[in-house]
Amino acid sequence: MPTDAATTSSTTTDRYAQSAAAFAKARVLMPGGVSSPVRAYQAVGREPVTVRCGKGAVVTDIDGNEYIDYVMSYGPLILGHAEETVVAAIVKAAGRGASFGMPTEAETQLAQVVVDAVPSVEVVRFVNSGTEAVMSAIRLARGATGKPKIVKCTGCYHGHSDSLLVQAGSGAMTLGVPSSPGVPESITSNTLLIPYNDLDAVRETFKGNPDQIACLVVEPIAGNMGCIPPAPPAPDGSNPGYLQGLRDICDEFGVLLMFDEVMTGFRVALGGAQALYGVTPDLTCLGKIIGGGLPCAAYGGREDLMRQMAPDGPIYQAGTLSGNPLAMAAGLATLDALQEEGVYEQLEATSAKLGAGLRDSAKSANVPVYLTRVGSMLGLFFSDTPITNYEQALTCRTDRFAAFFNSMLDNGIILAPAQYEAWFVSMAHGEDCVQKTLKAAEIAFATAAAVD
Ligand SMILES: *Cc1c(COP(=O)(O)O)cnc(C)c1O
Repeated sequence: MPTDAATTSSTTTDRYAQSAAAFAKARVLMPGGVSSPVRAYQAVGREPVTVRCGKGAVVTDIDGNEYIDYVMSYGPLILGHAEETVVAAIVKAAGRGASFGMPTEAETQLAQVVVDAVPSVEVVRFVNSGTEAVMSAIRLARGATGKPKIVKCTGCYHGHSDSLLVQAGSGAMTLGVPSSPGVPESITSNTLLIPYNDLDAVRETFKGNPDQIACLVVEPIAGNMGCIPPAPPAPDGSNPGYLQGLRDICDEFGVLLMFDEVMTGFRVALGGAQALYGVTPDLTCLGKIIGGGLPCAAYGGREDLMRQMAPDGPIYQAGTLSGNPLAMAAGLATLDALQEEGVYEQLEATSAKLGAGLRDSAKSANVPVYLTRVGSMLGLFFSDTPITNYEQALTCRTDRFAAFFNSMLDNGIILAPAQYEAWFVSMAHGEDCVQKTLKAAEIAFATAAAVD
């Protein structure tokens, strides 16, 4: 039970009355009352707040409560809510027409920015969601190699397409559904699973399936089972680190390496995790930030592979709204802003303060946590041991997280409603946000400490 006075149930009920009414209506009409499962707050045992608007680092619910937001639409809003240049670009584009089904110059402009920024991307195709990007890139990998199998890590999420919805982290993990009814075994039998951060498992799997594996797909920084960085190189040089190790083993066995940078692309560096760690995959999936908050994603990579997509090549993939002018405009405005001097330094500085403050606060409250961070992506695991893969992530104290989450919400800080989602810091999060967050965290950690 919450221990702080601000979280007593009568206050809580009044404070969220409009949201409660709105959610009751929504539940009648939509499964769980939501358009995506995690938004229903099942993992934290309460009902969600319904949002009226957002500006900068703050969202306001329909009861008028304000929150400092670390959901940030699960990653896209690296500049903050309703950032002026992004809004202006969308409005301007909307005035010219929402969609044409014909080429526009904006697509070429955004393609140029992506190709310049992301080391592996020589040619790019725009789609509408991260799910679609990975699904299409997998088709390309299979089509180009003529091989049926793919390898993925347990706990990595690559969208909800059939062949990838196996031990998939994120919402699927929170709900305790490792895969889903409706996905035939004949499809997932071609998906081979390995633990994240385990190079021996990669080698074994490749050896056991000679000439059958099209690609290995991985989140270079796992962000859908909390935030789990790739293992760094050993100081004595005995191993090259997880990502370089993947590159080496894929080359040795002739397997394509695909980085799913839907979350990390433009987030941890302009060129994504591949630029940060200096490891170049064959294919890359992008999403979230690339659309500046509008539905847009992309896949790209080596030219010889990408030219096999229709109409240059025989592998089919299409989309009525792909390359949508509004999404292109929002993406361009966002990526333009990210190329300004000092952006990633500011994100790093803000996030470092937040991370260190949370760690200290947990320690003072005597709550064991394992805090991870790569740039402006953070993971807060309620665990007294390090978390480097999915199996370990499953041992976390989700009951403590729920108490922490609820206290934070009641004190004006909104987090993703599950232990296994990352926190996102934006350019709009200033020093004042960090201080307010840490103040609320002090109470929230004390609340979590009371759960045994
Ligand atoms: C969010 C995410 C996806 C799915 O993107 P959608 O736009 O939600 O379909 C895929 N891969 C990763 C790594 C993601 O974080």
